Amino acid sequence: MAKKSAKKSDKKAEKKAESKAARKAEDGAARVSLLGGDTADLLRVKLGFDLAALDPRSTPGFSGDKAAGKEELDAGVPELANLQERLFAASKGGAPESVLLVLQAMDTAGKGGIVRHVVGAVDPQGIALTAFKAPTAEELRHSFLWRVRRQLPTPGKIGVFDRSHYEDVLVHRVRKLTPLETIEKRYDEINAFERQVSAAGTRIVKIMLHISPEEQKARLAERLERPDKHWKYRPGDLDDRALWPDFQQAYQIALDRTSTELAPWYVVPADRKWYARLAVQHLLLETLRGIDPQWPAAEFDVEAEKARLAAL
Ligand code: AMP
Ligand code: MG
Repeated sequence: MAKKSAKKSDKKAEKKAESKAARKAEDGAARVSLLGGDTADLLRVKLGFDLAALDPRSTPGFSGDKAAGKEELDAGVPELANLQERLFAASKGGAPESVLLVLQAMDTAGKGGIVRHVVGAVDPQGIALTAFKAPTAEELRHSFLWRVRRQLPTPGKIGVFDRSHYEDVLVHRVRKLTPLETIEKRYDEINAFERQVSAAGTRIVKIMLHISPEEQKARLAERLERPDKHWKYRPGDLDDRALWPDFQQAYQIALDRTSTELAPWYVVPADRKWYARLAVQHLLLETLRGIDPQWPAAEFDVEAEKARLAAL
């Protein structure tokens, strides 16, 4: 009897493992067929890119629904966590590589959600997050790149910029905070700066989360409706909203002038939060796979240490 039930539970375990493996294989297949492979190529800003022609509700490369998107996001976490740990470990062995994720968007587009749900899934020790606000008095005494240089990721880190030096050609252009001729020079300064950063070993991934004005209105309304979201609302958000077409134009110009081979822009449709998160996760995965960080070799004699440990 006992034998029989042991056999039965063996069978059960076997079946469970089988279906788990089947599900895993299915997940793998789904990831390849839905948003696997080359998200970067799909979303990269190339010559002739037209922001106005990209539907913010679209989900390029992904035919699944929200539930499938969320599942796929979860499925990507172990690989992302592993690659991040390898990146961090490799730097201890002297590897110079780091990643810089630049997030730009209109208000409510979901930068915070990317930080929480995509970047937040890996070891916080390996992340260097900076949110750039309107410059302080001290920052204003320096060139616009000064505060950015100070926050660049060191080797092994994934740096995340929630807004960035691009504000100095976006909001500055729209609100005329800087003379146009100075702004015109900034695109080249930015390209030269990013070339330097990239040469030092940092892979730059620039992302614009692209939402529609209708979706922004709904999200702002929700922020006003819910007391637990009031803290996210600034009356100034509406002043920026009133300048929507000007901001879109400033984005288009920045995308045209600063999407380079070494520091490309990706525009991610963001009316569906789940898609934007999935797409950014894939952009990060593809970047890290490209680095292919390796565990560093031990700097000590492993066998000798084993012998010492055994004796203690
Ligand atoms: P948020 O990211 O929504 O919390 O808001 C930050 C605010 O700071 C936005 O309104 C940005 O436009 C503004 N900001 C960030 N960097 C700069 C900059 N360099 N110059 C002027 N305003 C900036
Ligand atoms: Mg805001």
